[in-house]
Amino acid sequence: MTNQNVVVPDGKSGINVTITVAVSGSSLFSTAAQKPPPAPGTNYITISKKKLLQNLDINAGAGSARINAWMDSMRASSPTHIKSSAGAISDEYQSSWTLQHPSALDMFEQITNASKGKQIVMFLDYDGTLSPIVEDPDRAFMSDPMRATVKKLARYFPTAIVSGRCRDKVYSFVRLAELYYAGSHGMDIKGPTKGSKHNKGAQDVLCQPASEFLPMIDEVYKSLLEVTKDTPGAKVENNKFCLSVHFRCVDEKKWNELAKQVESVIEGYPDLRLTQGRKVLEIRPTIKWDKGKALEFLLESLGYANGTDVFPIYIGDDRTDEDAFKVLRERGQGFGILVSKTPKDTNASYSLQEPAEGVFATFSRLEKIVLKKAVQIGKKD
Ligand SMILES: [Mg+2]
Repeated sequence: MTNQNVVVPDGKSGINVTITVAVSGSSLFSTAAQKPPPAPGTNYITISKKKLLQNLDINAGAGSARINAWMDSMRASSPTHIKSSAGAISDEYQSSWTLQHPSALDMFEQITNASKGKQIVMFLDYDGTLSPIVEDPDRAFMSDPMRATVKKLARYFPTAIVSGRCRDKVYSFVRLAELYYAGSHGMDIKGPTKGSKHNKGAQDVLCQPASEFLPMIDEVYKSLLEVTKDTPGAKVENNKFCLSVHFRCVDEKKWNELAKQVESVIEGYPDLRLTQGRKVLEIRPTIKWDKGKALEFLLESLGYANGTDVFPIYIGDDRTDEDAFKVLRERGQGFGILVSKTPKDTNASYSLQEPAEGVFATFSRLEKIVLKKAVQIGKKD
């Protein structure tokens, strides 16, 4: 396996982006074979500068207005507010949204028909999808029945966990060596460490497009710990290639103050961007790499770069999952399922109301279509 750094200079911003990609000789890892041959002794994936550097203006804009918008969005997605504002969502809006994003469970016959003869590839977010959102993010454990279900599913389909968390952390929760893991919002991808019939040789698949940012991320992590230390309940999580500031245990009255503290640190780092998730602010490099890019990378690694015989299914609950839903919509392949109790703007095709229950039911129906041999099993050769 070869590690190769590719430095992409940008004249306007003065930023250099280094992509480190480790490439094995695996047949699963077909990218290098599809590109023009690299110089002798090198082995790398070419990712264009244009694709990587598209978010340089993301930190621009009015700070306080942006913070207010984030806080409003966070409040809207918090369980207490969902209960108290349930009446505020009109029946008309609810039913029009449900028509546009029907329950995946109600639509399973159509989904099965669409996936006939194709290879299903599963992409699963972790927090709020496979595990409940809990007060302490270190205790977002996955249940044993859920683990057993994912394990069973991975026997039939290539399966990847795509999370904002550090890859090691999400692995410590899931503990299934036969899966692909894309941590840090897809900026840290690794193939299975245990082979199965559809991932032989995938162990060496590795992609870390933001390794140049590691020292900066560490520095910002320390600054964030310092500025947030007096805010009760604030938790800063180091996800290796990105950082999360959790609001879950912070009094709502302190949310604006905490967001301002975070922004005050990030202001000094134009190469980092700040985004909002469910009760969390996330800090990551400004490279154009997200869960959608991770999905594309994994499909390519599995040999489905341009094929029409693949049917990716992505299940997630967060704004960051929208990048992956969008990719599926644009490719016209497979579908995204949004886990959400309330209507929200989404690129997903279908919805699931209850995280665990809905995911269980989806998996059990997928198993049934496998048993009917309605879909291809195993990897593309
Ligand atoms: Mg999630």
